[in-house]
Amino acid sequence: MAVKKPNSPATKDRSGAKPAGRRAAAPNTSPSKPAAKRRTKSGKSARVPSKAQETAARKAVIATALQMSRTGLSPGRSGNVSCRWREGMLITPTGIAYEELQPSDIAYVFGNGTYVPEGRKPSSEWRFHLSAYHTRPEIGAVVHTHSMHATVLACAHRPIPAFHYMIAVAGGTDIPLIAYAPFGTQELAQLVRVGLADRNALLMANHGQIAVGKDLAAALELAREVEVLAEQYYKVLTLGKPKLLGAKAMTDVLERFKGYGQNAQSRSQTSK
Ligand SMILES: [Zn+2]
Repeated sequence: MAVKKPNSPATKDRSGAKPAGRRAAAPNTSPSKPAAKRRTKSGKSARVPSKAQETAARKAVIATALQMSRTGLSPGRSGNVSCRWREGMLITPTGIAYEELQPSDIAYVFGNGTYVPEGRKPSSEWRFHLSAYHTRPEIGAVVHTHSMHATVLACAHRPIPAFHYMIAVAGGTDIPLIAYAPFGTQELAQLVRVGLADRNALLMANHGQIAVGKDLAAALELAREVEVLAEQYYKVLTLGKPKLLGAKAMTDVLERFKGYGQNAQSRSQTSK
C-alpha cells in the first residue's frame, strides 16, 4: 500500500528502556503537505492527515495524559494514553514524565505492531492498546490507569456488579475483570481483546483498569467514571453485602443509555 508512514523524531531516548517490540526497518517521513490524498486498498481515495493535524493529535494525547495525572487517576508514573492514528496509533512513550512530554515524544506504532527505531519507544503496554483498536474499529482512544480503587478491586479479583445503575457506562451489566497476565505481553493483549468485545471498560487482575471511547475525552471520562464506581463499590462492601440491581432494571438502564450514545456518559447527563 503506497501510504507514507508518520514521522519519527530523531531525538535521543531518555528512558534507556529496552525495546518493547518489533521495530520497523526504516523510518519514513510524515506527510508535510496538508490534505494530501492517497489510494486505499479498496481503490477509494482517502485524506492523509496533515502534519499540523498530526501535531494536534500528539498534543491531545499529552493533554489527556496530563489530565489523567493531575486528577489523581494515575498514581506515580502509572497509566498510558493512546489515540488511533492512520493505520496505527499514537501513544505515550515509556520512561518520560508526562510534564516533560513534547509532541515529538509521542510514539507512533503501526497497525502491525512495529515502530520506527529513531523515535521514542512506546509505552511497554502498547500491545493491549493496539489490540483494542483491532477489536473495536469504531473506537478512537484508549486510557489505561492504575487508579486507586479500580486497582484495589482488581487486586482482590472483584469485578464490579450492578450495584449502581451507572455501571451501564461500561456498556453492560457489570465492569468485568480480566485474568492476570504480565504487563506488556501478547497474552495480556489477547485478554483485553476478548474483554473489550462487549464492554468499554475492564478491570485487569492485579493491575488496573482500561477504558476506551470514541475520542480521548470520552475514554478519559469513562476511566474517571470507572474509578468513581470502584470507590463507591469498595465503600458499599465495607457496609456488607450490596443490594444489586436485577437484570430487568439493568436492561431498562442500558436501553436508556443508548439514547445518550455508546461511549462514556457524564453523571450530569445521565443522573436524571
Ligand atoms: Zn499498567
